[in-house]
Amino acid sequence: MTPHLDGSTQLAGLIGWPLTHTLSPAMHNAAYEAMGLNWVYMPLAVRDGATLTRAIAGIRAFPFVGFNVTMPYKRLVLNMCDEVATQAQLAGSVNTVHLRDGKMIGYNTDGRGLLEALTSDAGFDPAGREIVILGAGGGAAAALVALALGHAKRIAVLNRSEDRANALIERVRERLRGVELIALPLDPRAEDRVRAADLVLNATPVGMSVEDPSPIPVTWLRSGQVVADMVYGAQPTSLVRAARDAGAVALDGLGMLVCQGAMSIDIWHGEADMRAPRDVMRAAALAALGEGV
Ligand code: NAP
Repeated sequence: MTPHLDGSTQLAGLIGWPLTHTLSPAMHNAAYEAMGLNWVYMPLAVRDGATLTRAIAGIRAFPFVGFNVTMPYKRLVLNMCDEVATQAQLAGSVNTVHLRDGKMIGYNTDGRGLLEALTSDAGFDPAGREIVILGAGGGAAAALVALALGHAKRIAVLNRSEDRANALIERVRERLRGVELIALPLDPRAEDRVRAADLVLNATPVGMSVEDPSPIPVTWLRSGQVVADMVYGAQPTSLVRAARDAGAVALDGLGMLVCQGAMSIDIWHGEADMRAPRDVMRAAALAALGEGV
């Protein structure tokens, strides 16, 4: 539905490149309408770093409540913010910026969005649990920080390049002392660690193409586990299918996407008693997926 636009309309949007398949405009605009907000959310495709600087200057000049950030600018935007929330500093990236009193305040809602989706869709609480994260990039870092702050007992980061897993853990170890952190290569040496995990989280892009195999051998999965894929699409990923076949509880990344977006709105709106409607946003995202967005 076309939003009503007038001289009081406030702006929000998503900065990234490319933005061909984003579900965020559908999800956000549906939420604003349901909440009665005179806001509009736009895709803001930014081709390169030089354009990013000019785009941010433009955003500061217009009535933006805030904006989201996706690949490849989450770290660059962190460095352009006036203030950065602790969780975003630890994650090393910003996916949500609030424009407040002329300042850009950076947040990371990816990790907290993941936690909310795990709780609401799988009844999973990380406290005291063993967790395996596949991947060591921005999504993995945000998840690691949120799961550690959620009092996980042990988190193993399994990555194709072990050096990057080590670097991630060394960067946060001093600030996250309550959790045991382990780096491992994503190869057969990790099998026992995956089998022992209460939660297996895919934070690699493997699964984005329907032909992609599972990022780990499916025989490593077992019933009683929660398996969460950050990847989402019109079809379940190979990992999600294999986890269901193994009797595990499996979630794709749509719940995380919805919750991280809803938390952005909650930050921009600031009224604790008027939370963004997760159900409306999920329905809008699913409808956009069905239309092949
Ligand atoms: P990123 O920073 O580029 O990191 C990608 C990670 O995946 C790296 O650790 C990389 O390993 C690993 N990787 C890439 N290709 C691989 C392959 N073929 N086999 C094994 N490992 C591979 O990306 P990101 O921002 O963390 O995003 C990761 C995925 O999560 C993307 O699909 C993204 O769309 C998704 N995501 C979803 C949400 C959501 O709301 N659902 C939020 C954030 C991210 P190396 O270090 O060895 O290169």
